[in-house]
Amino acid sequence: MKPFFKGVRKHIGKLDAATLREQYERVSDEFDFFETTLKSIREGIAVLDGEGEIVYENPFVGEILGKGGIKSLELPLKANSKREIKISYPEERCLEVQTVALERESTLVVVRDVTSEKRHAEEALAAAGERAVRDLAAGVAHEIGNPLNALSLNLQLLERDHPGDETIGICRHQVARLDAIIRGFLQALRPARACLAPGNVTEPLAECLKALKNRFEEKRISVVLDMPAALPVCAIDKNQLEQVFFNLLKNAIEAMEDGGRLQVAVRSNDEAVEVGIRDSGYGMDDEQLKHLFEPYRSGKAGGTGLGLMITERIVREHGGTIAAESKKGEGTLFTVSIPRIEKRIRALNE
Ligand code: ADP
Ligand code: MG
Repeated sequence: MKPFFKGVRKHIGKLDAATLREQYERVSDEFDFFETTLKSIREGIAVLDGEGEIVYENPFVGEILGKGGIKSLELPLKANSKREIKISYPEERCLEVQTVALERESTLVVVRDVTSEKRHAEEALAAAGERAVRDLAAGVAHEIGNPLNALSLNLQLLERDHPGDETIGICRHQVARLDAIIRGFLQALRPARACLAPGNVTEPLAECLKALKNRFEEKRISVVLDMPAALPVCAIDKNQLEQVFFNLLKNAIEAMEDGGRLQVAVRSNDEAVEVGIRDSGYGMDDEQLKHLFEPYRSGKAGGTGLGLMITERIVREHGGTIAAESKKGEGTLFTVSIPRIEKRIRALNE
């Protein structure tokens, strides 16, 4: 197309009116075609002049950047560049912004929304990291198991020769303790598969609340319950959901060192049953929230940082989701959502 336009431009003085009109219409059609293309493209495209003023921008720029528009990005003019920018308004997004220096001092800007690409990459990385940690830890635990067994056997033999020896007794006791720790650790890393059966989500929740009643009183935590009497049936593994609620409630108690208020609310909608556990504890900052479900990220002395990882895995095995909202110094809300049984069946048939 370009050589053709150049030819027209060169001979423009010699063209008659009819040819000029024909060429003008052709250019106009071309323009419409490009404009429609640019309008429908799901990428922000803008052209800035030498002073950074907007010469052109397609509608997606406004959609992606909101009121601030392209100028809010403070881009280098008349230069080629590529960068990644995080914006929080109008929505949290990750953008890839490219500038290309054009002829006549102008700059072309291309904005691509890479939020979901990034999220998928992060999820894949987290999953791979989790797997690697799990395999490594399980390997180490397994290796420790063998010498422990040998120690235990030899201590038994020694004990036979020296019945009632106190030192041997202490050693056997300590070896048994180590064995229990390793066993628990392996169980945490490789939990049993969820064994799902129709049930009510509030049942394991109520069990946990009952078991922790004394702890709430000791810690001067007032508990506010909001549970409807009738709820849709979900496919649940009762024992595993008990572990979920126990972990969440234990964290909530630990976050309310000087007493506080615990609100537990159960709701249902067309898709799922939702359990909200809100505490008025010390809360978390954004950095903590970002790594919340990763293993070994405990913020407590003596914590393992495994509780929420296991919790998240169990909820995932139920086909559900878990989310946290928190503000440092104000408290935290965990929401566990378990799909309704009809929903699950529908999803499986689809
Ligand atoms: P652990 O309790 O052993 O530290 P978890 O996986 O249960 O491990 O929790 C990880 C971390 O997340 C905690 O150490 C704490 O910093 C933070 N956390 C979890 N729940 C809460 C909560 N309700 N309030 C404040 N911080 C929390
Ligand atoms: Mg915990």
